[in-house]
Amino acid sequence: MDFQAILDEINDELRPRLNAVEGKVASYIPALARVSPAQFGIALRTCAGETARAGDSALPFSIQSISKVFSLTLAMRALGEALWQRIGREPSGSPFNSLVQLESERGIPRNPFINAGAIAVADRLVSQGDAKAELLALLGRLCGEPIHIDAEVAQSEADTGFRNTALANFMKGFGTLDNDVATVLDVYFNQCAIAMTCEQMACAAGYLCRDGRHPLAGTPVLNAAQARRVNALMLTCGTYDAAGEFAFRIGLPCKSGVGGGIVAIVPDRLSLCVWSPALDRTGNSWLGRQALELFVAKTGLSVF
Ligand code: GLU
Repeated sequence: MDFQAILDEINDELRPRLNAVEGKVASYIPALARVSPAQFGIALRTCAGETARAGDSALPFSIQSISKVFSLTLAMRALGEALWQRIGREPSGSPFNSLVQLESERGIPRNPFINAGAIAVADRLVSQGDAKAELLALLGRLCGEPIHIDAEVAQSEADTGFRNTALANFMKGFGTLDNDVATVLDVYFNQCAIAMTCEQMACAAGYLCRDGRHPLAGTPVLNAAQARRVNALMLTCGTYDAAGEFAFRIGLPCKSGVGGGIVAIVPDRLSLCVWSPALDRTGNSWLGRQALELFVAKTGLSVF
């Protein structure tokens, strides 16, 4: 398959739609609110190491909730099955920052990709060591380039993170968090503020299409069973309350973030990242979703 030609076609077909964007960029912090919606990038890397890219694929964006895939990876590596004593694996059916289910489920978040779940994962990582440094080091190794946190975004996340603070305190009250709430939230706010390009992200996620093996070095990042499980969680819980719709229309494990990025995995074939900042009503990238639909239509690649 000529992936470069396919990504060029997708870029040519979708770019005119940036003149009449139907979504809105995330506006809860100034650093995201001022991002121009008229941007679109796409990049992929195959299991054989072939790369392809189109559009704004080399511009850094705020990875936001996509970071939850990598923090989960670190926690699964460190804790194995014990991680699941504190975090569930069911789609939530509630908003990503909802407090409601935490009460009926006695402080155990439904899955690691809602905010409560990612905060509980951050707590597990804090118990292991310097979680922020570990996460940046993992991402840097996975894409072969140094990765940075956008300090302005991190500060704004902290300044406006009232609901996340409430979630963390609520879980602390139930005994789900072992560490100091402020320390755990500092990790969570900083991981949301990591900036990466589509090209870096397409490479970094490569272990998920290779049975857990490092995209560049081939060494194990996760074992094959763990990599399958991360993919399963992405498919069922990775795209806010649109996971059913994503499975129906696209049929690939995906994880999105409010910065407008979506990473997608074609097991045993390739990892892919799309980015376009305007979000649809479900909080997923408006044009990114269309790009993934087009990619699947053009290539016939899907897990189903
Ligand atoms: N950083 C935001 C928050 O925690 C959004 C993360 C996301 O869903 O991408 O509320």
